[in-house]
Amino acid sequence: MLIKNQIYETTVTDYTAEGQGVAHIEGCAVFIPNAIAGERVRVRIEKAQKTWAAGKIVELLEKSPHRVNRECPVAKLCGGCDFWHMDYEEECRLKAERVRACLNRIGGEALEEVPILAAPSCYGYRNKAQYPVSMKKSRAYAGFYRAGTHDVVENPRCLILPEESDAVKNAVMDYGNQYRVSVYDEATGKGLLRHIYVRRGAVSGQILVCLVVNGQSLPKADALISRLKAIPGFTTLVLSVNTKKGNAVLGDKFVTLYGPGYIEDTLCGLHFRLSPRSFYQVNHHQAERLYRAAIDQAGITKADTVLDLYCGVGTITLAMAGAAGKVIGVEVIPQAVEDAKDNARRNGIENAEFFCGDAGQAALELEKNGVHPDVVVVDPPRKGLNADTIEALHRMSPRRIVYVSCDPATLARDVSLLKQRGYELKTAQAADLFPRCAHVETVVLLSKGEIDSKNIRVEFSLEDMDMSEFQDGATYPQIKAYVLEHTGLKVSSLYISQVKKKCGLEVGKNYNLPKSEDSRQAPTCPPEKENAIREALQYFGMI
Ligand code: SAH
Repeated sequence: MLIKNQIYETTVTDYTAEGQGVAHIEGCAVFIPNAIAGERVRVRIEKAQKTWAAGKIVELLEKSPHRVNRECPVAKLCGGCDFWHMDYEEECRLKAERVRACLNRIGGEALEEVPILAAPSCYGYRNKAQYPVSMKKSRAYAGFYRAGTHDVVENPRCLILPEESDAVKNAVMDYGNQYRVSVYDEATGKGLLRHIYVRRGAVSGQILVCLVVNGQSLPKADALISRLKAIPGFTTLVLSVNTKKGNAVLGDKFVTLYGPGYIEDTLCGLHFRLSPRSFYQVNHHQAERLYRAAIDQAGITKADTVLDLYCGVGTITLAMAGAAGKVIGVEVIPQAVEDAKDNARRNGIENAEFFCGDAGQAALELEKNGVHPDVVVVDPPRKGLNADTIEALHRMSPRRIVYVSCDPATLARDVSLLKQRGYELKTAQAADLFPRCAHVETVVLLSKGEIDSKNIRVEFSLEDMDMSEFQDGATYPQIKAYVLEHTGLKVSSLYISQVKKKCGLEVGKNYNLPKSEDSRQAPTCPPEKENAIREALQYFGMI
């Protein structure tokens, strides 16, 4: 175990999912913020556990050629971005490498390279901002949380946002300070202003301002509206009522104070209406490239029915409608489904249908009613597909599955589960929609017996499936890789078998006994690792 506060010399070799540098000292993984792979550093250990530690650079002995001066003055404090200390080339390399490593380690692939669509610009690309509001010396201000805290860091000009976004933030804060509008305090649950949410259509320039408040109304709303009207593109002001404690930003009730309550934008040549609750990719240019890649991979013909699960306002569904016979979208947020239906109408698309519900349950229901799509697109949130969705995909047995993902680890887990159900990974493409931030998008194509007749496909899928693998769930190496990716912890096969047993799961013969003859001396899985393993078992749908 490394010693807290001691200084060690080491070389950074890799990155965590959050973009921190990783080094290995005495067999222990050390996570080092702001470190770049290849750098030789002296680190002070700030937290030491058995298998991992957290360190801080105290001296940079050998600098990476990719290290740059931070352009953002608050980059070190603000938790919004992760990569202002490195050039964009290294950022893209590490993102593509992360996707490749996940698909290989968790997904069981052997990819030598995953290409990445790099963004043409790292500035002003982000069309949505959510600024938490705070109070300092009786002055209200808004900014972004410092990493891992709810301390709000002020930044007069955020480089990844359009100028109009910061102009809205300033207008709201000027109004708040002039009329002494109270600011929400997380500790007491008192005060009105919580968040300023701004969304701007990249093509339309229309701006939606949504104020999240701990109350039912806004004092002097007219004074705010007249300030906002001075900002080019301001279209609508909506109040989101959130009187609950907790981290959820938006409340359930929305009150439109000015304008139509939504904005419009153009994407992939189609027109979209966007309500505050609806998801819409924040990087317009890169989203178009990602969707084009998804559409190319889908290989749709006019004879095809396409099912788009997790469809949001129908962006991908409607972009595919022209090439397909029929498209069906499923989405859980009612407002987004209303937007999607309206979007089909406003684009004159008649072969699209939308359903509101959980993707997995809706897909199972559609399958029961005889819907057998030829192509399924899935674009789930970070947690990936749930067991119902995997089961529905298995039953529907589409020729192709196009998986758009915002988390390479859960993508890789799901790829592995779909491979157990007869699919093969055909292509993988990463796309950078979040320059300077650690998130990365990926689109992969999975396909299965590309034969036209559905009957033949069903027979093929049943006969060719290895049912034993299906029942056992993830393999030990997959569980280990998943735990390492998500927590940085290394877990032994023995520990996995102990947790599997506790959960009432079958364990292979070899794992029933520890290597040591005397089982009393066998180490037992510490709680921290047990939790991590349980989480992996849950992710793999085994418990
Ligand atoms: N494909 C869309 C949206 C992708 S984001 C686009 O690119 O614009 C993921 C979407 O899944 C969000 O709209 C979210 O509301 C929705 N979602 C989250 N959980 C869901 C579930 N269990 N079932 C269906 N949709 C869900």
